[in-house]
Amino acid sequence: MTYSEQIKARYAAALMGNYGLPPVVIREGEGRYVTDVDGNTYLDMIGGIAVSSLGHDHPALVEAVSVQAARLAHTSNLFLHEKEVELAEKLLELWGNPGKVFLCNSGTEANEAALKLAILHGNATGKTRIVATENGFHGRSLGALSITGKDAIREPFGPFGRDVVFVPYGDLDALKAAVDDTVAAVFLEPTQGETGVVPAPAGYLKAARELTAANGALLILDEIQSGFGRTGAWFAHTAEGIVPDAVTLAKGLGGGVPIGAVLATEEAAALFTKGVHGSTFGGNPIACAASLAVIDTIERDHLLENVLDLGRHLDARLLGDPRVAEIRGQALWRGIALTEPVAAEVVEQLIGLGVLANAPRADTVRIAPPLTITESELDDFCDKLIAALDITSPAPGARP
Ligand code: PLP
Repeated sequence: MTYSEQIKARYAAALMGNYGLPPVVIREGEGRYVTDVDGNTYLDMIGGIAVSSLGHDHPALVEAVSVQAARLAHTSNLFLHEKEVELAEKLLELWGNPGKVFLCNSGTEANEAALKLAILHGNATGKTRIVATENGFHGRSLGALSITGKDAIREPFGPFGRDVVFVPYGDLDALKAAVDDTVAAVFLEPTQGETGVVPAPAGYLKAARELTAANGALLILDEIQSGFGRTGAWFAHTAEGIVPDAVTLAKGLGGGVPIGAVLATEEAAALFTKGVHGSTFGGNPIACAASLAVIDTIERDHLLENVLDLGRHLDARLLGDPRVAEIRGQALWRGIALTEPVAAEVVEQLIGLGVLANAPRADTVRIAPPLTITESELDDFCDKLIAALDITSPAPGARP
């Protein structure tokens, strides 16, 4: 039995089965690579599901976290500290809109807080309905799950006692039919990540903004996966030139340290009066220091430009392969759609070839690597993806 197999057996015996048995026992990481407990090295093309924005063991993150841990690790919300103020100010500056921030610990928690804003807005205006999208994903807590449009994971836990209407994602006519003056809020992802990186059609978010404004409903954008550099911008929605009432963030925001945030316009933020919401760990000093280091490094090293350039390189490398139907998404947050439903096998082959990726659906390999990745590392991924496809779907003469 290898050491990995031993740890896996202990995992299966000690941890609940909700994640199944993950394939790789990671011991450490450096840059874009992780090493397992048996010494095998993998190129990390999934970045802990769009989280490890600076890669692993990044000196800026290590220093920020170490210095902050040595100085002050926790205050609770009974007291405040400078880092949470600094982070909130910085997030509003990046967003470019007047507003206020609520800090929490995960994406799910950010959506819980946003859902509370929606409910409070509904209470104040007599609106009861929430509109969300089919196949959308907002988290696993009961609130976030109630607006999650993936039936298989939502339905076992319902009913939720909330009037939620799910519309087909990206279908403007369906959205128009669903949004009237009974709607308190519309929740949308600019691109659906867990469904295989499926972007909304151009103009959809803008139209959603106009519809919600006309009906007095909040537009709440879940940028937990799409935000913080994934699309080559701090926020995916700015490409449509709109200002939503609230945006939820997490994942890449902390570069691997758990943190979530809700950014809201002044008007929406005013719904959170004293006592309506809270979190013991929200705005934790270590998490805020980590997030500030992530932002500083992305700005200093021009990482948003890096992923945009590399995204084009990825297209050039893979789009000619006949087994690749399309590559959805932007920059280096991509759903590589295959012509055959072999994504799970391809991901398994990639692991054998020393690459971590994932298959959110049968025909799609998803990548969301560190924003720090280099062109030669990306080339290495492309070579290995083609090699994995050669094993799962051999196509003579398929190489681009
Ligand atoms: N919203 C979106 C769009 C997500 O992709 C996720 C996680 O994948 C979540 C919410 C939930 O975030 P977390 O797992 O941090 O609670």
